Amino acid sequence: MRHERPGLVSTNQERFHHNPIKEQFYPGNNLTLTIKYVIFTSNFLSMNIHEYQGKEILKSFGVRVQEGIVAETPEQAVDAAKKLKEDLNSDWVVVKAQIHAGGRGKGGGVKLAKNHDEVRQRASDIIGMQLVTPQTGPEGKKVSKVLIAQDVYYPGESETKEFYMSVLLDRTTGRNIIMYSTEGGMDIEEVAEKTPHLIFKEEIDPKVGLQGFQARKIAFNLGLSGASHKDMVKFVSALYKAYDAIDASLFEINPVLKTSDDKILAVDAKVDLDENALYRHKDLAELRDTAEEDPTEVEAGESNLNYVKLDGNVGCMVNGAGLAMATMDIIKLAGGEPANFLDVGGTANAETVKAGFNIILKDPNVKAILINIFGGIVRCDRVAQGVIDAYQEIGNIPVPIIVRLQGTNAAEAKELIDQSGLQVYSAILLKEAAELVTKVLNEGK
Ligand code: GDP
Ligand code: MN
Repeated sequence: MRHERPGLVSTNQERFHHNPIKEQFYPGNNLTLTIKYVIFTSNFLSMNIHEYQGKEILKSFGVRVQEGIVAETPEQAVDAAKKLKEDLNSDWVVVKAQIHAGGRGKGGGVKLAKNHDEVRQRASDIIGMQLVTPQTGPEGKKVSKVLIAQDVYYPGESETKEFYMSVLLDRTTGRNIIMYSTEGGMDIEEVAEKTPHLIFKEEIDPKVGLQGFQARKIAFNLGLSGASHKDMVKFVSALYKAYDAIDASLFEINPVLKTSDDKILAVDAKVDLDENALYRHKDLAELRDTAEEDPTEVEAGESNLNYVKLDGNVGCMVNGAGLAMATMDIIKLAGGEPANFLDVGGTANAETVKAGFNIILKDPNVKAILINIFGGIVRCDRVAQGVIDAYQEIGNIPVPIIVRLQGTNAAEAKELIDQSGLQVYSAILLKEAAELVTKVLNEGK
């Protein structure tokens, strides 16, 4: 399992985008870079899972969901559709791309199919496609699985109605809230932006949990009465119970549907799990799909490094998240942009330094590397030796390296590096390190 992993700048752009509705809690436009890092760091220690996995979890807590079966080939898709017909008498199905990003409908990743030929066709169109949605970035994500789901928008006694509902932690009050709106469906981001008064919040007291009157208030505010009101109360209660029990960091159900026969169910499910609580949920930890994650981040996690890829040109390797943030700020002040966040941890040694180097060097945008280690528990000369060893082992490192070692045995460390004969610049003061960054970036122009 991975360590705490902060989600920062460019990756956070995507992750931030992931839950745009969260923006109202983090109106960070005027904040300094460092404070933003802190917010993002504390905000995104979460593991994403697929819609079908999220729905299975919800269902196990008694939350009604749009039923479906996962398929990896068009033939499996047809079999799934047959089974849904047998079990649920569902004539039509929806073929839904399973990727870790929302907005799939807009990108052509959710399609209705009215017969087996259409199921086969849609499934073969979607499986293997590079799906681009407002949340994937222009390169999109490759689809390897689809969920064949029952069509729940069937006609009946009353109109269907789509709602929005999420459960998350409001960090300003330290309490969970249920956010909900009558304006569910694909454009909730626009609702949040243009008509925020249409989004309601219900705060939950952690001592007593979600109360019956609160669930009834939510159903009432959503304009429901009779059977659908009752079913919504049940839905909300089960949803909150699930959120609490699995240590989720976010549930976002959009849409929650009222069917034409007045049932309430989850059509979509974005379920994010709190990484720091995964040790309590071994079964859920297994749901991780590393194919959906940045491969370098996955590799870093395996070496116990806290790494987040960013878009800049200066790679950095630091011990401690606080020093990492300060380092990223000085990189910016020196005229560069951080290419990554990398915290090698408080017990950095030659091995971790080497692993860090290898990961940073995979990024072709890196024009310089700044190593900034504070030797508290770890001795600077050991780290210096690690840098030298790694340098010699990796061989011809094509970019200049600036090493700033401060703390225990800093002078010995500087001497080791200066005498190693390698193309490594050493600095003791942060200011010197920043000036060296500026210097090497200018020389590289
Ligand atoms: P998202 O686009 O990634 O958020 O994926 P959703 O699961 O929310 O699906 C997108 C849209 O597809 C929904 O807002 C619905 O309008 C539509 N949709 C989903 N399930 C069904 C279904 O069973 N029948 C029909 N007709 N439309 C559906
Ligand atoms: Mn959705």
